[in-house]
This record gives sequence, C-alpha cells and structure tokens, in this order.
Amino acid sequence: MINGERITKSTVRWGMVGGGKGSQIGYVHRSAALRDRYFDLVAGAFDLNAERGRDFGAELGLDPARCYADYRAMFTSESAREDGIRAVSIATPNNTHYEISRAALEAGIHVICEKPLTFTTAEAEELQALAEARGLIIGVTYGYSGHQMIEEAARLVASGALGEIRLVNLQFAHGFHNEPVELANPAAKWRVDPRFAGPSYVLGDLATHPLYISEVICPDLKIRRLLCARQSFVASRAPLEDNAITLMEYEGGAFGTLWTSAVNAGSMHGQKIRIVGSKASVEWWDEHPNQLRFEVQGEPARILDRGMGYLHPSSLIDDRIGAGHPEGLFESWANLYYRFALAIEAHDAGKPEQIKDLRYPGAKAGVEGVRWVENCVRSADLGGVWVDYQ
Ligand code: NAD
Repeated sequence: MINGERITKSTVRWGMVGGGKGSQIGYVHRSAALRDRYFDLVAGAFDLNAERGRDFGAELGLDPARCYADYRAMFTSESAREDGIRAVSIATPNNTHYEISRAALEAGIHVICEKPLTFTTAEAEELQALAEARGLIIGVTYGYSGHQMIEEAARLVASGALGEIRLVNLQFAHGFHNEPVELANPAAKWRVDPRFAGPSYVLGDLATHPLYISEVICPDLKIRRLLCARQSFVASRAPLEDNAITLMEYEGGAFGTLWTSAVNAGSMHGQKIRIVGSKASVEWWDEHPNQLRFEVQGEPARILDRGMGYLHPSSLIDDRIGAGHPEGLFESWANLYYRFALAIEAHDAGKPEQIKDLRYPGAKAGVEGVRWVENCVRSADLGGVWVDYQ
C-alpha cells in the first residue's frame, strides 16, 4: 500500500444516495472511495432536493443524465444499463437506510451504508439475508475501524499478551451538542427527532463506533446481559438521549462499560477504547490514532507507533506513508473502502471464500450495532435495569 499498488483488478462503478452539498459525511465517503481509484463515481441521487442534487452531481463532473431525482429512479435506470453502477453508498439520515438498502439489493447492487444500518434488528437481519441470497455485500461505515493501531490491539489480544480479558472500557463522549445546537443546525436537528434518527440519538450515532472496534479487538467476547441508563440533558431532545451509560456483562466473566455523550462539555471527540487484561492493557484514542498505549503491569507504559517494524505485519499492510508521518481519518476510511472493493470483486467473481479472512464491517457488524442499541433502549426504558441480551 505504501507505493499505492493496486490490489483489485477492476474499478467499481459506484453511485451515492445522499451525501449532497453541505452534508456532514458525503465528502468523507467520496474522498475514501476515490482515493486509490478502487471506485469510480458515475451516478448519484445526492440530495432530498432533486434540483440541488443534480447541480451538485454536475459540479462533481458527473454526466447530468446520471444525476437522478431520487434513488428509485437511479436504481431502475442504472440496473438497466450495461455500464450501470455495481455499488451504492447510502449517506442519508437513519430513517431511510432500510428502504434504500433493500431497494439497492433488490436491484442487484452492492450496498455500503451508514450506521446505524436500520431502526430494528429484524430489518437489519432481513437486509443481511437478502444480500446473502443475492450474492451481494453490505458494508457499514464504522469509519474509525480502518486505523492500523486497532489491528495491532487485536493482534496483541489474540497473542495472549494481555492475559485474560477482564474489562472493556469504551467511550465516545464529545461536547459539541451541550446546547440545543439543533435549533440552527439541520444535521443536528434530525439526529434528535425519533422520526429520522430512530429509537436513540447518541447510542446509535456515536456508541456503535467504539462498540464495533471492541468487537474487532476482542472477537470472542459475547454480551450476556446489559444495563443502560440514558438522559436528555437538553430536555427538548427527550425521548432521545444526549448521554447514556451502559454496563455490560460478557459470557465468561469479563465486564464492560460504554459512556456515550454529546454533552461532554469541553471534549473534542473523546472516543477511547481501553481493554484491560490480567497482565496488561491496551488503550486507543481516536484523537491520536497513530498511537496505541500498551501497559504491562509493573513495567513502564509503552507508546506503540503506527508504521514501526516492531508491530505485527498485518498492522503494517495499510500504511500509506512511513512511520512518524501522521495518518488520519481519511486514510482510515480509505482502508475500509478498499476492503469493500475487494469484497465486491470476490462476490462478483462468485468466489466469496477468497475474502473469508478479510476484516471489514459488513452486514453482521451492522446487525450487531442495531441489536446493541435495541437492547440498550429496552433496558433504559424499563428504568435502567439489567436485561438479558437478545
Ligand atoms: P446530513 O443531514 O448532513 O446530510 C444528509 C444528506 O442526505 C443531505 O445531502 C440530504 O439532502 C440527503 N438526503 C436526505 N434524504 C435523502 C433521500 N431520501 N435521498 C437522497 N438524499 C437524501 O447528514 P449526515 O450527518 O451526513 O449523516 C448522514 C448519515 O451518515 C447518517 O446516517 C449518520 O448517522 C451517518 N454519519 C456517519 C458518520 C460516520 O463516522 N460513519 C459520521 C457522520 C454521519
């Protein structure tokens, strides 16, 4: 990867739904997908406002005939073309993910969808089954999970260097919404409205990121039961929470906590993952993603740096530049997108077994994120009680 060497044979013809002008995450998708030319953006239904969406597509250099008024028109026209899109990314508010993903899969198009994948586990499982039946992939953009030091943390846990895993301490707690910013910010407004956001705000919007990273680092941990308490410190956000704390008991005795917040005043991102074992701990913080703390009890703490020869070889394969130069969120996303491209290529060749060892957030990760939110909301709405994980 350091030399930008291609690892797929083809470039995936790609479209987008949402992610239009002024959207929060649209540009991150484009910059990640187009970074190494694994994808070629040829079509889009970028905006709820059809005219603005068309203008935006034209600004991006697309054929105006392939800038569609809505996703239905796009899937119908594109699936009838010989050179139609093979994959679509869905970067719209949460309430649309299920119906747009389903329509894409039914049209034979691979899906890369924003989190949370759906409102309910049943819907997410339905999409997973549909993708499997059609030989298509679903990728879910847990965009922080492409950072190389997460792979290193996973390798350290797998090697036994931490000993037996005891504690999983997760947080994603920023301070940007400590006031009712939604009154002036459309991207914040839909997030605190259940009709668009679904059954939760920060649990689905933020917490599912460190949750997925913990699943990557500790794949053997299975939640047995959890307790969640959620609050709306900005009262007008109720019933949706802007802060929540979840306790998790895992099979086998490990214990976890996840604090998620949009009202952690003064905090930038505050996304941290700390895994505590019987011998040592690892800690990763997304504001310093090139570093991983490795702390062995009784020894000085070590800061492991991205790109260094002492890391596991699989923690080096995604490096684009040598150690010491900071890589960031754009590279992390690009690492996910090239994996999506590899998965799409293998599925289109009818050889999904070729990528059985490829780690990427797929349909299962999407389902598990939704399942976790559903369990948290059930616990919180019962008054913050322990519930068996379903
Ligand atoms: P946003 O409100 O900033 O932008 C939404 C975009 O979708 C706008 O361009 C809007 O016009 C368009 N849109 C809405 N409905 C549409 C429809 N039916 N058809 C076509 N276009 C439509 O929202 P955002 O903050 O960019 O969030 C979008 C999604 O991305 C959400 O699901 C959010 O949870 C997710 N997100 C993920 C990350 C991440 O790190 N993975 C970060 C931010 C947002």
